[in-house]
Amino acid sequence: MCAAASGGILLREYHTFSLPVTAKALLLPTREEEVPTLARRADYIIGEGSNILPLGPMPVVLSTRDLKGYKVRAENTDGVEVEVFAGENWDAWVRLCIARGWHGLENLAGIPGSVGGAVVQNIGAYGIELAPFLVEVRGWNRRIEDWQTIPAEACEMGYRTSLFQKSAWQDQFIITRVVLRLKKRFEPVLSYPDVNQRIDSTRKQDPWCLYETVRAIRSEKLPSQGSAGSFFKNPVLSEAELASLKAKAPDVPFYPHGAGFFKVPAAWLIDRAGLKGYRVGGAQVHVRQPLVIVNTGSAIPQDIWGLAQYVQTKVYEKWGVLLEPEVRILFPIER
Ligand SMILES: Cc1cc2nc3c(=O)[nH]c(=O)nc-3n(C[C@H](O)[C@H](O)[C@H](O)COP(=O)(O)OP(=O)(O)OC[C@H]3O[C@@H](n4cnc5c(N)ncnc54)[C@H](O)[C@@H]3O)c2cc1C
Repeated sequence: MCAAASGGILLREYHTFSLPVTAKALLLPTREEEVPTLARRADYIIGEGSNILPLGPMPVVLSTRDLKGYKVRAENTDGVEVEVFAGENWDAWVRLCIARGWHGLENLAGIPGSVGGAVVQNIGAYGIELAPFLVEVRGWNRRIEDWQTIPAEACEMGYRTSLFQKSAWQDQFIITRVVLRLKKRFEPVLSYPDVNQRIDSTRKQDPWCLYETVRAIRSEKLPSQGSAGSFFKNPVLSEAELASLKAKAPDVPFYPHGAGFFKVPAAWLIDRAGLKGYRVGGAQVHVRQPLVIVNTGSAIPQDIWGLAQYVQTKVYEKWGVLLEPEVRILFPIER
C-alpha cells in the first residue's frame, strides 16, 4: 500500500529542522513495486529528512522511509552480505547488525536518517565511513524508466558525497535497496581520541560498549532536535591554500586528506570568526558545536538559510575559505 497525502501537507514531522513548510503532496511507497508509478509524480526524493533544508513550499516529495526489510544474500565464516531496504532507520539497522553478530558499523551509531540517505551522503563519524562496506545499490532510474544495480566501484563514494548527488542522478535515481558486506569478527576502530579515551577499557571487545560510547559522545556534542547535524563540510585545502590560511591563523588544526590535501575543521573556522551562538531570527549557530545550525523553535526556512549564508560570508572574509554546505538545500519549484 502506498500512503499519499495531497492538497498541502505539513512537512514538519518529515525533516529534522522541523520547519513549518508544506509540500503539495507527500508520496510514501511501502513496497518497491510502487516506486516506478509514484516516481512519475515526484519532484524531490528524500529519506528521513535529516540532511535537508526545505526553503519554502515544496512541490511533490517522495520519501522512501517506509521501504523496510532486509535479507541475507551470502554468508560464510568471515562475514555476511546483506541486502537492506532504503527506508530502514540507520541507527536501528546498526543495532540489528550488532545483535546478529555482523560488525563494522558500530562507530556510525546514532546517525539520524535512513539507509538510503546514508549511501547518498556516504555518512561518516568517529574514524569510519560507510563506503568500505558498500557492495551495490539498487534503485529505479527515472531517466531510463528501469531498475538498475550500481556496483560500489561505480558509486563514486567520497567525503560526504556519492554519484547519487550528481545532477544526472539526484532525484532521478531512487535508491530502494543497498547491499552491505559486514564482518563476523569484531575489530573495534578506536582511532578517534574521544572514543579511545571514553570507552570502558575492560569492555573494548564488546561491540555494544563501542556503540554506547559513540552514542554517549554524540548526545553530549549534538543537539537532539531542530538541526541537520553539521551544516557545512570540513573544507579540504591544497598545500598552497593551507599555507595562506596558516599565515592568518598559525594555530589552525589540519589533517592529511589524500596526497597533497588537508582537511581543516569548519567548526574551528566558524568559532574563531566569533560566530558561536550567533542568531538570525529563530536560527542559531549552536553554542557548543558551531558547525551545527539549530532551529531554536520559531525559525522559518529563511532564518536558517540566512544564517548559513552569513556564516559562509564571515568565514570567507576572515579566513579566505569558502564553506560548502553538507546539508542539501531544497528550493521551492513553481508548478
Ligand atoms: C543531529 C544530527 C547529527 C548528524 N550526524 C551525522 C554524522 O555524524 N555523520 C554524517 O555523515 N551525517 C550526519 N548527519 C546527517 C544525516 O543524518 C545523514 O546525512 C543521513 O544519512 C541522511 O539520511 P536521510 O534518510 O535523513 O536523508 P535525507 O536528509 O532525507 O536526504 C539526504 C539526501 O539524500 C537523498 N536521498 C535520501 N534517500 C534517498 C533515496 N532513497 N534515493 C535517492 N536519494 C535519496 C536526498 O535527495 C538528499 O539529497 C546528522 C544529522 C543530524 C540531524
